[in-house]
Amino acid sequence: MKSRSVNRSGIVIRRRVLPSGDIIVTLLTPQGKVKAIARGGVRGPLASRLNLFHHVGVQTYQTPNNDLGTVKQAVLEGALPTLAEPERHAFAHLMAEFADALFQEGEFSEQAFELFAAALRGVARQPDPEWVALVMSYKLLGLAGIVPQTARCARCGAADPEHPDPLGGQMLCAACASLSAYPPQSLDFLRGVVRRTVRANMDAPVPPAERPALWRALERFVTVQVGGVHSWRQLVPSTPEMTAVETVS
Ligand SMILES: [Zn+2]
Repeated sequence: MKSRSVNRSGIVIRRRVLPSGDIIVTLLTPQGKVKAIARGGVRGPLASRLNLFHHVGVQTYQTPNNDLGTVKQAVLEGALPTLAEPERHAFAHLMAEFADALFQEGEFSEQAFELFAAALRGVARQPDPEWVALVMSYKLLGLAGIVPQTARCARCGAADPEHPDPLGGQMLCAACASLSAYPPQSLDFLRGVVRRTVRANMDAPVPPAERPALWRALERFVTVQVGGVHSWRQLVPSTPEMTAVETVS
């Protein structure tokens, strides 16, 4: 076996500084997710280039007995400075955590990369970054083939459920539900978001007052189906009524 160097272009979706000062970065690239280590990273010239959400071209060097490649060079190919604004940053961070949880290392997905890159640009530039994040989260789920069931009650299978499912993040019929039905716009969004184009979804935003319930459903669904996404805690509003329901169940 021989050592080899690999060139990749992608977006930094995760960045972790080790006590040694080395930086472990995860990039989402059109060829899949790539994880590599930048040695001496925080003191080295690579540190500022390997910031979260930067689009970078990296050359990594892989030795046969070390599965984590070493970053030899990094070139900044693009950055979205407005993502530093607190509200945008929170949503960008959530999208990055989300992509990291949904897509596996080595899994080839040019579409996933394109969709994620579009999501970050939208969060950086659109006047309503929360709506971009909600729409793109569901579109990324759809791409990963993990889609909440909306045609049947998640508990009994009855057709056309309209109520939140506080445990699984899917939908319940009136007989199974303990919470009141979704308002019409939210219901329409949940039933159509994955099938509709991004543009069609962006053009029909759900009123902000209805969004906490949509975030809660997404949070429950992703936690049950994929596993925890850490950014939820800072982003999704806490929900006393839901805690009560969970304690009873
Ligand atoms: Zn039911």
